[in-house]
Amino acid sequence: MRLTRRQASKRPGPRGKVGQSQVTRPGRRLHRVRPDANAAAGRILKRLSRRYPDARVELEHATPLQLLVATILSAQCTDQRVNQVTRTLFQKYRTAADFAQADPAVLMEEIRPTGFFRNKARAIVGCCQRLLSEHGGEVPDTLEALTALPGVWRKTANVVLGNAFGKPALAVDTHVTRVANRLGLTATEDPDKIEQDLCGLIPSARWAQATHLLIFHGRYTCKALRPLCDACAIYEDCLWPEKPRRRGVSPTLRPAARAARG
Ligand code: SF4
Repeated sequence: MRLTRRQASKRPGPRGKVGQSQVTRPGRRLHRVRPDANAAAGRILKRLSRRYPDARVELEHATPLQLLVATILSAQCTDQRVNQVTRTLFQKYRTAADFAQADPAVLMEEIRPTGFFRNKARAIVGCCQRLLSEHGGEVPDTLEALTALPGVWRKTANVVLGNAFGKPALAVDTHVTRVANRLGLTATEDPDKIEQDLCGLIPSARWAQATHLLIFHGRYTCKALRPLCDACAIYEDCLWPEKPRRRGVSPTLRPAARAARG
């Protein structure tokens, strides 16, 4: 079946690619990384950590396996809805073996509210079968081993590494993509390149925290369609050409924005 462009943009894609409308429209983003990106990244994270002191992964979990399953379910779905589903799900399925032996038709119904439930059920069962056959039922703690699991892309692997294992990992989702582009910390919508750009600007010890801060900012302030620029803690550091003017902001910032825009 051929999908419309709108439907296609909503499908969970390879490497967690996101629909363009969720990020920035063509021609409305910066064409190169800002020249002061290193200093700007430090300033921005400092301000965001004051603005969102409780920034953390919002998917409820108690074990690496629960976070892995919840992250697979979170594709194209809100964390709140995933949490509603997993509160019941994790009482029934407690180990990788439980998920690996699940009846796919039953599991599909149980996760239906998260959307794309057929693909997600297949991914969870396949992933847990591989955990059993190759990792003794445990979730591995390396990027290579995680991304080798069925249904686990780089973003999911980085979420698990950074939050379940406390390893340096920066996960790029639709919020990180949008915010990093608007701030001029990257100039691409390719998640792998964005991860590279941000990891080059931010010390590895802060990668996981930076992910949470950028996601919180994107989720609660720098929204896709109507960003709350008036309430933005990093307005002065934003180079997005579409941002509305705000009273009290020095006009001397504008030439810098033009220069970074290229
Ligand atoms: S000023 Fe507006 S567009 Fe720029 S980072 Fe803040 S909320 Fe986002």
